[in-house]
Amino acid sequence: MSESGPRKQPLILVVDANPGLRVMARETLEQLGAAVTEASDESEALRAVAEHRPDLVLLDVSGSGDDFSLCQEIQRAVAGHPTAVVIVTEREDVESIRHAYEAGATDFVTRPINWLLLSHRIRYMLRMHAVLQDFRRSEERLARAQRIARMGSWELDIQTERLDCSPELHRLLGLPGGGRDVAPSDVLERLAPRDRLSLEEKVRQAIREGTRFGLDHRIVSESGEERVVHTQAETIVDETGPRLLIGTTQDVTDRKRAEAQIRFLAYHDGLTHLANRRFFRDRLKQSISHAERYDNVVAVLFLDLDHFKRINDTFGHQVGDVLLQQVAGRLVSCVRESDCVSRTEETSTVSRLGGDEFMVLLSEVRDVQDAARVAQRVLKVLARPFSLSGNEVVIGASVGITVCPGDGGDVDTLMRNADAAMYHAKETGRNTYKFYEHSMNEVARHRLKLEGELRKAVERGELLLHFQPKVDVETLRINGFEALVRWEHPTLGRVAPYEFIPVAEQGGLIGSVGEFVLRTACLQAKAWREAGFCSLRVAVNLSPHQFKEGGIAETVAGILAESSLSPRHLDLEITESALMENETIAVSELERLKRIGITVSLDDFGTGYSSLGYLKRFPVDALKIDRGFIRDCETDADDAAIAATIISMGRMLNLKVVAEGVETEGQLAFLREHCCHEMQGYFFSPPVPADEATALLERHGSRTL
Ligand code: C2E
Ligand code: CA
Ligand code: CA
Repeated sequence: MSESGPRKQPLILVVDANPGLRVMARETLEQLGAAVTEASDESEALRAVAEHRPDLVLLDVSGSGDDFSLCQEIQRAVAGHPTAVVIVTEREDVESIRHAYEAGATDFVTRPINWLLLSHRIRYMLRMHAVLQDFRRSEERLARAQRIARMGSWELDIQTERLDCSPELHRLLGLPGGGRDVAPSDVLERLAPRDRLSLEEKVRQAIREGTRFGLDHRIVSESGEERVVHTQAETIVDETGPRLLIGTTQDVTDRKRAEAQIRFLAYHDGLTHLANRRFFRDRLKQSISHAERYDNVVAVLFLDLDHFKRINDTFGHQVGDVLLQQVAGRLVSCVRESDCVSRTEETSTVSRLGGDEFMVLLSEVRDVQDAARVAQRVLKVLARPFSLSGNEVVIGASVGITVCPGDGGDVDTLMRNADAAMYHAKETGRNTYKFYEHSMNEVARHRLKLEGELRKAVERGELLLHFQPKVDVETLRINGFEALVRWEHPTLGRVAPYEFIPVAEQGGLIGSVGEFVLRTACLQAKAWREAGFCSLRVAVNLSPHQFKEGGIAETVAGILAESSLSPRHLDLEITESALMENETIAVSELERLKRIGITVSLDDFGTGYSSLGYLKRFPVDALKIDRGFIRDCETDADDAAIAATIISMGRMLNLKVVAEGVETEGQLAFLREHCCHEMQGYFFSPPVPADEATALLERHGSRTL
């Protein structure tokens, strides 16, 4: 009821046992514009009070021996609702009057009633009552508003040091007692100790200068919880000087928290909590201008995970997200720990730009070698297996590095350069880092030219094949050949496959180059077969890109049919990365190829993941040990151990093991000792044109039926 709005008409309850007097009262009061309701006895009166909440009660107690208990009960019943009670009494002695007031009467009239006078008094009382109600309502509204805003108001009397606090401020500060007055020392006690001095100083200054102030500070609740409030105050000055300091204190903890959260989200990546692109750019900009002023070097590392897509495809995005979080964690600790320079949050920033791309800003390095050391370290930490929902997963990363000054002097250029350097690193075989160099632009131009020329090379007949024998380690008889493509350009001369195969892959030309190689190799194999070398196999390299779209099995089958070559004379060499990048397609394509009767060799084995799990999943027939391990197998114990392990592992899995790049007698002896099946390399023969290969066959091949 106390929350309801003002009534249009004041309501008056007339309590009188005498019906005639009730009628008189009604007439008088209705003339004042009031609504009137009546009660003849005590219980009716209380019922009417509870039901109607009258604004005024005209209570005749003359019949009840001037007992004021009903007045008391009425006041109790209206609790909180301001109700004026006018008592009609017979007695006019001081004692009775005091008694009436004590019982909660607002005023009293004596019998016999002077109706005119009563009407004036009641009109006045009703007006006061309306004002009082308005005041009550606005006080309530204020309290409600303060409660909602979690804002308390207060007033400090400067002379008396009386501090009056609103209920909400009591609540906010957890002050004891129900009254409004508070000892300033109680309030001081609630302030966080480290903010006490600054608030006191502000208060003193405002009083001294008659000014206002605003301050964020902390308060500590009784339970020890710390909250942030904003206090704003103003000095009221009159002719005698500063009189009052009035103010509000609002709990802004949640707002501060939300602000901090918003600020954080605006500048950080939600998944990893690393700096985001915007933050990174800001920091980079700062670092560049700092570097100019203080003459130091800024390095930007652009990092992209290798085969991240595969993790997402295999395990799902949630696991992918967990991996990104783990990568972020390792990156941060690794960059912080870096011992080449003392690092703090100020001098290095790790950021995630999106997807699996990260950037590291090293804002104060001594020289480019510092940056290289950090890159090495990053690669090393990321090479350790990750544990993802019970699976051990190995990923790698490619890192591009650019430095300022040197490679560029603005944010965009540096970010672009780092990106280009990262691609360069990916091309050179992943899990490595590369610096950006001016010459990289040169490289890009050159590649564009090569791409244009390569488009015409197939039609112009500039591509041809060389063949390198694959030889039995024991007997040194030729078991087969690896076909290796060559490009003889009329003006550029011979272009190495290492140079143009990536160009073909990126320019979408690998399909036609690959088909040329397959067709030519099959025709050559067919020719050798017809010359009587019936158990000979020709190996053709397949690029990962030829696996991407699927359908490679159909292409191969078509070319075999076209050249009427039996599939058992064809071997396909694929690298592990080709399989892993498109695992689902790869497995089904490989199975199709196997069903046709073609064999598959895993090329460059030992450089990639070389995981036994993969060997079981992919139906391959042979492993080709990468020539890197063969090169040093006589001098480097690690390489020798790796080569020996691959051989025995292959043998255990019933796979043929082939060693590549055999150049010396000693390497051959090593392979014999470890029972490697086949070898390939300059020791026996480099790749040679078809006619020379035929000549080799005549000497070292076996004619069978
Ligand atoms: P690969 O498949 O590992 O081929 C072996 C490479 O090692 C060949 O280089 C070969 O000339 C070289 N090599 C052979 N024996 C020795 C040796 O004793 N010592 C040393 N140091 N090297 C030796 P090449 O022909 O320059 O081919 C380079 C790469 O280009 C190949 O590596 C292969 O990945 C790719 N490639 C070549 N031909 C083709 C092709 O027709 N299609 C596709 N997709 N890739 C090809
Ligand atoms: Ca090969
Ligand atoms: Ca190889």
